[in-house]
Amino acid sequence: MEITYSIIAPIYNEFDNLPELHRRLSAVMNSTGEPWELILVDDGSSDGSTARIRELAAQDPKVRPVIFARNFGHQIAVTAGLDYARGAAMVVIDADLQDPPETILELAKKWREGYEVVYAVRAEREGESWFKLVTASLFYRLIYRITDVKIPIDTGDFRLIDRQVVNVMSQMREKHRFLRGMSAWIGFKQVGVEYKRAARLSGETKYPLKKMLKFATDGITGFSYFPLQIATYLGFIAAGLGVLAIPIVIYSRIVTGLHAFEGQATTLLAVLFFGGVQLISLGILGEYIGRIYDEVKGRPLYVVREAPAKEK
Ligand code: UDP
Ligand code: MG
Repeated sequence: MEITYSIIAPIYNEFDNLPELHRRLSAVMNSTGEPWELILVDDGSSDGSTARIRELAAQDPKVRPVIFARNFGHQIAVTAGLDYARGAAMVVIDADLQDPPETILELAKKWREGYEVVYAVRAEREGESWFKLVTASLFYRLIYRITDVKIPIDTGDFRLIDRQVVNVMSQMREKHRFLRGMSAWIGFKQVGVEYKRAARLSGETKYPLKKMLKFATDGITGFSYFPLQIATYLGFIAAGLGVLAIPIVIYSRIVTGLHAFEGQATTLLAVLFFGGVQLISLGILGEYIGRIYDEVKGRPLYVVREAPAKEK
């Protein structure tokens, strides 16, 4: 039987959310009257989610589990889901029910109209800290400005992607993945649908500040050279200031005869400032070089403990 919709949900310690996720998704997807499947990717959960996923799969043949050998991260889990999915349209959704399953019907409607990528835009967000709201909003706008690919603002990974686009995406095996950027890069006909992002049903966010920062760096380094260019700009500014400063210093020391710019403090400040700028520039270079190194190692993206056969 040809599958129309593959729903992909990454799971990292979502024990309490799993039954409700399965229930709400089933209600929505069964209403379409079309064949669908649910790929639950267990990203190294340690709270019993794994057993619960196996239980769901035993009860419902539509559920196909992909179980990782350890935690590989959200973007990799979604990638694995896309690798194993067989549908004509794939829907990526969070397991914590922040993305309402009912919105899938709206995404599917646009897909039927001929759009290959239908992304869900967060018009409103519930139950999130002001810190998350502000940082997320700043991040979306920053990345929109500094990348050549136009990554839609206020848009997460909740989206419907046509098989054709997923086939291209599966060939992009970069290790540090920023899926929303990758799907924008591919092109095709894309459209946004607004939705209200709910609060997490249960549990805590699995994206603490450290993971958020890593995610943001992956997005920026994966789609922009801007941080590398900052060093060049700063270099020109510093050199320009230096050239301007020479006649001023000569004038104030020789012509006015004042004891201007004497002493260690001036030197110390300049050394500290430019030492700092240089180290930061080196660090930025390091970020890119580390990523090159990860690519060169050519390790697999993820390791599965259990997975369904990859038949098409
Ligand atoms: N997730 C994952 N691996 C991780 C972190 C998160 O698979 O290392 C999953 C998580 O279970 C959820 C989705 O990714 O289904 C989004 O995570 P979360 O809701 O914690 O992020 P937030 O909505 O707070 O940004
Ligand atoms: Mg969430």
